[in-house]
Amino acid sequence: MKQHCFLSVVVPMYNEEEVIEITYRRLTAVLETFDETYEIVFVNDGSRDRTSAIVRRFCEQDSRVKLVEFSRNFGHQIAVTAGMDYAAGRAVVLIDADLQDPPELIIEMVARWREGFDVVYGRRVERRGESWFKKTTASLFYRFLRSMTSVNIPVDTGDFRLMDRKVCDALSEMRERSRFIRGMVSWAGFRQTSVEYVRDERAAGETKYPLRKMIRLSLDAVTSFSTKPLKLAGILGFLLSAAGFVYLIVVLFQHFFTETTTQGWTSLIAISLLFHGITLSLLGVVGEYIGRIYEEAKRRPLYLVSDQLNFSSRPGEAPQ
Ligand code: UDP
Ligand code: MG
Repeated sequence: MKQHCFLSVVVPMYNEEEVIEITYRRLTAVLETFDETYEIVFVNDGSRDRTSAIVRRFCEQDSRVKLVEFSRNFGHQIAVTAGMDYAAGRAVVLIDADLQDPPELIIEMVARWREGFDVVYGRRVERRGESWFKKTTASLFYRFLRSMTSVNIPVDTGDFRLMDRKVCDALSEMRERSRFIRGMVSWAGFRQTSVEYVRDERAAGETKYPLRKMIRLSLDAVTSFSTKPLKLAGILGFLLSAAGFVYLIVVLFQHFFTETTTQGWTSLIAISLLFHGITLSLLGVVGEYIGRIYEEAKRRPLYLVSDQLNFSSRPGEAPQ
């Protein structure tokens, strides 16, 4: 079990040149208050701007700042995973680079951890400066997820959290590709508690989570924690075929005992369209799962690192 310092802070970054300097300053100011050893693990998720150059400068000045450089953009959840693989603290904090999660809350998280909690997650009581669309979809998503999964994933929490070394190690053991870290932490168990905070506006720059990435994350969340959609698809399919069978009897009755059979053309088209639509969407549900099974079956590494700075050892190895 690696433990080279008191606290590790993992910061995933994707094109964050506008904000990363202030983030670094505010984080350092908070971490200095502990009077303990710490490290900041920046993970550059294939940024195409000056993010990497800026962090490299911090690394030169301060050996507690570390950088993991990806070979391309692998996505937020994977970047966080890499940070956790490299982090060596007795506790690990995950925080976004854009200061939407206030670094000052880490002080409260550490206090709860010292009381004996293994996971302290931040719960958003208010979200500032985010669009109506984002807030509504996020809120609906958390509740939908809750109804879909058997794992008790707390609502209105992001990845901003502190985890004890043992939770971090447990998570690093899970190498699935479709990662929904909040869910995996809930699944892991241990003693969990929350601290509340107001989620601020992004300090600078734009969101790196467009609708496309949000949809992907929600699908990953639902499919990795629940097979309910498959079961619902099955139930719906059964109900519809039962209804279809009843209608078949009606049609046969009309054919043999009445003169009105040609009138059925409209309803025939309507039902055919309806059933084809439903069949295709149910196939889509099945496809989402099969696609993920295929991705997992390839067993590729989760990410590729092109460079690393200020680490004395690679993850899993003892420090030199
Ligand atoms: N991020 C990343 N890779 C990506 C997208 C985002 O590492 O492909 C990082 C980003 O730099 C930020 C965090 O993930 O530190 C959260 O992203 P963002 O703030 O854009 O999401 P939002 O808060 O709008 O949901
Ligand atoms: Mg943000």
